[in-house]
Order: sequence, then C-alpha cells, then structure tokens
Amino acid sequence: MKSVSSKVKSLFALSLIALFTACTTTTIPLTGRKQKTFGLGAPSNEQVVQYSAEAYKVLMDSLPLSNDVDKVGLIQRTGTRIQKAVEKHLTEAGQSEFLAGFEWEFNLIDNDTLVNAWAMSGGKVAFYTGILPICKDEQGVAVVMGHEVAHAIARHGYERVNQSFTKNLGLTVGAVALGQNPSTTQRIIFQAAGLGTDIALLKYSRLHESEADEMGLYFMAMAGYDPSVAPAFWERMSSGSSGQRPPEFLSTHPSHETRIERLNAAMPKALEYYNAGK
Ligand SMILES: [Zn+2]
Repeated sequence: MKSVSSKVKSLFALSLIALFTACTTTTIPLTGRKQKTFGLGAPSNEQVVQYSAEAYKVLMDSLPLSNDVDKVGLIQRTGTRIQKAVEKHLTEAGQSEFLAGFEWEFNLIDNDTLVNAWAMSGGKVAFYTGILPICKDEQGVAVVMGHEVAHAIARHGYERVNQSFTKNLGLTVGAVALGQNPSTTQRIIFQAAGLGTDIALLKYSRLHESEADEMGLYFMAMAGYDPSVAPAFWERMSSGSSGQRPPEFLSTHPSHETRIERLNAAMPKALEYYNAGK
C-alpha cells in the first residue's frame, strides 16, 4: 500500500498531465486572438459568469446608484443599443456561444470623482458619473460602452481567473489531493484570483485593454455610433480635460500614443461596419 505522501505525489503528477492535455484554445470574435485556458478543476467560464453576477448584485446593492433620470437613461439606452448590435453580429457569425449566460445590466454609480467604468463577465457593466463629462455626449458614452462590452464578450475576466489558477496550481492541486470539497477548492481559486472582495477592481492587462479598444470600436460602429469619435475621446481621457487628477482608468491601459495608433489601424474596418448599418 502506498503512503499518503506518495499518493499525493502521484495525484499531483497525474494532475499535471491532465492540465497539459486539457488546454483549450478559443478564438476570440473579430480580433481572432487565440485565448488559451486550462482545465483541471479550474472554474469554467460558466462558473465565472455566475460568480460575477452574484458579486455584481452585491456591489449594486451597496453602492449609491445615480437617480438622475437623464444620465441613467443615457447609459441604459447606449448599453442596450450596443447589446442588440453585438447579439445580432455574434448570432449571424455563428458565435452565439460567446453570449452564453449573459444577463446584461448597465448601471450608473453616483460618484463624480471616479473617472472610470468597468465590466464583469456575463454583460455586467457599471459607469461612474465622473466619466460622463469626458464622454460629453452619447457618442462618447458609446466609446466607453463598446470597450466595456468587449471585455465581457472576450471573456477577459474568465481568462484572468484561469491564469491566476494555473499560477497557483500547486496550492489548488494540494487542496484537491487533501480531499477538500469542491466549494472549498473554489474559494481558494477565487481568493487566489483576488476575486473574493473586489472583482470590480480587477485590473486588465494591456493585452486585454488593446483588445477591448479594437473590439469596442467595431461594437459601437455596429450599433450605429460613429467610431471616428473614439480617438478624440481617448485624447480627452489622457489630458484629464475636466481638471481632475489623471484617471486611474489609464494606469493599466496602453500608452496614449500606442492606443491612438491602434485605434487608427482598426478604423477602416470599424467604418465598414458603421457604413454598412447606415
Ligand atoms: Zn478596459
């Protein structure tokens, strides 16, 4: 009979084999990027969508939401318009699996000092009132909305959880080997991913930001918003035109010059979507 430690060792070895054979490659719509994720008991995309919905509800119940009817209407109108365009595009492209589990929500948090917006898996979007002066109008809101919706569609939250999981592989395999129940193991995963308390503050990598910029441009164009306003919006964000300190939003985002260059590179394709819808 094997000792407990040798059992754990062989389990660990088997798990590593399982990990490397359970690599999934997903082709992200529009950008065509190959997103690699790993299996082995890591939370699935469906689980991350579900967990995000729970976290989003907690946040919306605890943060002050704007009761400015015009501003709330602006966010919801823009969000719904982009949602419909994205749903139509993905369905026609045979990529409706990227909408699985989506229950869209577009909320406006009453905070004039935060120049920010964010999105969680499953179509959960939030804007702070502080970003609206920089958006200026509905077109500007559509630039940010397209970008945030893109984070959700491209499963960036799931990708981050998965990356974090593989980095903490030893810990997790240990938990599984010790026979802890799945919910305990999952809690470890979420803590490892920093998702326990502040999923909203999840920082996206520059890769994710660039992808959200590009895809967001297409999404706003598909919804009938002129994508050529996007570079000017990001100029305003960069210069912090309203006199507020440089927004935190930008710190994890690509450098300004890189961002404008990439937006311009994606513009012809975005204008095709825009003109096709006119
Ligand atoms: Zn972003």
